[in-house]
Amino acid sequence: MKASAFSYARAASVGNAIELLVAHGERAKVLSGGQSLMPAMNLRLVAPELIVDIGDLTELRGIAVSGGIVTIGALTRHADLLKSSEIAAHTPLLTDAVAHVAHPAIRNRGTIGGSLAHADPASELPACMVALNATIIINGSAGERRVPASDFFTGIYETVLSAQELLVAVEIPIGPKNSAHFFCEFARRHGDYAIVGLAAQAVVENDMLTDLRPVFFAVGDRPVLAKAAAKLVKASITPALLSEASENLSEELDPPEDQQASSSMRRHLAKVLLARCVSALLGRPDLGSGGSL
Ligand SMILES: Cc1cc2nc3c(=O)[nH]c(=O)nc-3n(C[C@H](O)[C@H](O)[C@H](O)COP(=O)(O)OP(=O)(O)OC[C@H]3O[C@@H](n4cnc5c(N)ncnc54)[C@H](O)[C@@H]3O)c2cc1C
Repeated sequence: MKASAFSYARAASVGNAIELLVAHGERAKVLSGGQSLMPAMNLRLVAPELIVDIGDLTELRGIAVSGGIVTIGALTRHADLLKSSEIAAHTPLLTDAVAHVAHPAIRNRGTIGGSLAHADPASELPACMVALNATIIINGSAGERRVPASDFFTGIYETVLSAQELLVAVEIPIGPKNSAHFFCEFARRHGDYAIVGLAAQAVVENDMLTDLRPVFFAVGDRPVLAKAAAKLVKASITPALLSEASENLSEELDPPEDQQASSSMRRHLAKVLLARCVSALLGRPDLGSGGSL
């Protein structure tokens, strides 16, 4: 199938992109890497009348580190994140996660802004943003607004972004020296969307987790920061305590059922991932046997 007929505008600046979005509202769509938008248009799942191509806005591309914050421009491609030494040094969770986003050809075009705006609940980067306590920076005709990642995603393919706004960057606070992270996803093949995934950021002190943000993806309509993890923070973790937290996690999640996995299968996989996460973060193999696959 081919996309419905549409008009095309190449934005000359962020201001120009916003002018076009304000003028055309719901009838316009931003084009970044096109790796989600173009397939959706070709399948006629969406039929915008105007495409606003922001690909020339080089000011939206790049990674900067300053004052304990990593700032990533919206047009930074997945491939740029994967090879960035700044990202590997300061937010290695992202380096691990991006390697699971699709395949090289898609990573060469797809952007972090596009992935976050698209808000697929099975995507890796939205979950990472919540785990990393990122702030999403949005520009519109009224100026800039800053939204915590935990408030940004509102449903399946839904965010707080209005049709008149542009996601311009994300800011990620650099964690303390004893930060640790964990990333793992179950997918049919490497590069496929996850059946269940977990991105977690933590602080480890004296064999204890003093902070833990485990964010599950593909288990709900948006990334899910597991409340059950609170039990595991500043606690001496025994297999019994971990098992209790896993049961709480299972009650907390309401995963969808689809052709890839049943709801109960997703619950089971989430529990396995939580056990592996805690085991890896603390270097405690005795905790990792939280269920077989
Ligand atoms: C075969 C295949 C496999 C894939 N597998 C995965 C996977 O495993 N994991 C994964 O996470 N993704 C996967 N993707 C999606 C891919 O990562 C996309 O690149 C990403 O989701 C969207 O980024 P993009 O820059 O291409 O955005 P686009 O396709 O250009 O845009 C996506 C949506 O976001 C909006 N948008 C884009 N940029 C902005 C902005 N700056 N401000 C406001 N709105 C904006 C667009 O209007 C559109 O609605 C896959 C894609 C394909 C085709």
